[in-house]
Amino acid sequence: MSIQSQIDALEKLSGLDAELKDLSDVLRKERGELDTKKTRLAELLDRLTGGKKSIEEMERARGDLMGELRQMTIQIDRSREKLSRCRTEREANAVQRELEELRKLHRDREVEIEKIDVLIEQARTDVTTVQGEHDKLLADLNSIEGEATGRISEAQAQFDERNKTREEMVKAVPPQLYRRYELVRSRRGTALAYTHTGICSACNMHLQPMLFQKLKRGEELGQCPSCSRIIYFRAVMPAGETESSGA
Ligand SMILES: [Zn+2]
Repeated sequence: MSIQSQIDALEKLSGLDAELKDLSDVLRKERGELDTKKTRLAELLDRLTGGKKSIEEMERARGDLMGELRQMTIQIDRSREKLSRCRTEREANAVQRELEELRKLHRDREVEIEKIDVLIEQARTDVTTVQGEHDKLLADLNSIEGEATGRISEAQAQFDERNKTREEMVKAVPPQLYRRYELVRSRRGTALAYTHTGICSACNMHLQPMLFQKLKRGEELGQCPSCSRIIYFRAVMPAGETESSGA
């Protein structure tokens, strides 16, 4: 297999790998955005459920306290009545102490109810805020999900199709060269570089003159001593590219 046909095979493969990388970047980005929104939506829903449950619990506790308060009011009324029927001062003092104790308990319940009312109000405000954020995000997700899913399946289809083409392209590359290509690609993202004036197109390092001359003679494929990419001499620069742009 001639050096030139190896270069051609590698160039094709490398171009396809760049397309595959772009497609997988698109897929990762689109899926990531949807996942982030969905995760956030689930969090908000959890908070809503939790908030509503805690309001229900507090309202139940408030109901219990209100019941106790009514019982105490009845007891206080009874004690007052008892006080009016007292014959001795000793008796009256005892009922008076009982009354004071009941009034204190009554006040304690009232304070508890006030505290719980503040907490319920806070929880309701929180739930309203979370509900607003949830509804907004849900509407946002509903409006973008269809199109995003469309873009994802389109990109996935392109990716799968190109991946199949890749299998064919790989057959055109000598196995040993392909292994080297894959090794560098796994470390560097891209595996192929060229030189036109003695500079590596990928890492912009100057090649030793001996290596450059060897590549120029087209006798073999080289390896950039700096970035390890497979490197070859390109006599004509591709349109719109400069060697130092790090193509
Ligand atoms: Zn290099």
